[in-house]
Amino acid sequence: MIIEFLGTGGATTTPRPGSKTEASRLAREKQTPPWVRMGPGLFLHGPDVLIDTSEDIIHQMNRAGIDYINACFYSHWHPDHTAGLRVFEGNIRDYSSKPYTMAPPTDVYLPQQVAVDSRNWLAIWDQLMYLQDGVQVVNVHEMQDGDSVDVPDRADSSVKITPFRLHLDYVYGFMIETNGKRIVHAADELFGWEPPEGLKGPDIAILPAGLFEFHPLTNERILMPNHPLLKEEASFKQTLEMIEKLGAAETWITHIEEAFDMTPEALAKAEERFAAEGKNIRFAYDGLQLTV
Ligand SMILES: [Zn+2]
Repeated sequence: MIIEFLGTGGATTTPRPGSKTEASRLAREKQTPPWVRMGPGLFLHGPDVLIDTSEDIIHQMNRAGIDYINACFYSHWHPDHTAGLRVFEGNIRDYSSKPYTMAPPTDVYLPQQVAVDSRNWLAIWDQLMYLQDGVQVVNVHEMQDGDSVDVPDRADSSVKITPFRLHLDYVYGFMIETNGKRIVHAADELFGWEPPEGLKGPDIAILPAGLFEFHPLTNERILMPNHPLLKEEASFKQTLEMIEKLGAAETWITHIEEAFDMTPEALAKAEERFAAEGKNIRFAYDGLQLTV
């Protein structure tokens, strides 16, 4: 299985229109990763599983050469993770194909609370029902907490995906198990999370950066200590403490907000510092692939 980071930005992507940050300036100049960061999304090549659909998903699929999504899981209802859900309309085939056939519907899995929230926010449930009953391009499955899904992959094995609630309990992380390997992925919103025993020691952890209250390289303060966001989102320092407790063999940081102005050069130097401290913590970038 190959894990591909489709997008490593957050609610703000890089470049951000109108932004004067160095990160955005460089991204406009280079036009490519690692400078450009699109909206959050992760794809598992093999089982062809997608986690979350930002509004950038169609461009991400074209870039990654993805021609079909077998199954999609949603981490939570926030628009930076769901705004691209119309992507499944792409399951129609060329109208010139004879005989005309549709691709099989994509299985869309909503963890328990996401299914509840989808009915209350952003008309997500209505959109999904249109895609299921109107266009017939998805089959929607509501999960209960504790449920797992085994998705077959092309190598005749399967990947087992188990959603779990984070401390902010409308948000889910995923335990992904395949070929004897365990991957823990949380897409966003780690505030207050204590990694439970059952998740500890995975082979790979993929976690959101949180708020860069301090610059990870210079330690310069970026957010004022009384900033209201610090009451509801984990800081990067708190994320590092969670990484320590989770104890993955390797950890990749994603969901990096443009507004913090983290250039790839600064993040590479921060990675060097982590390595010097014996920590295997890296910053992901769009298009990065991990072979599992
Ligand atoms: Zn997000």
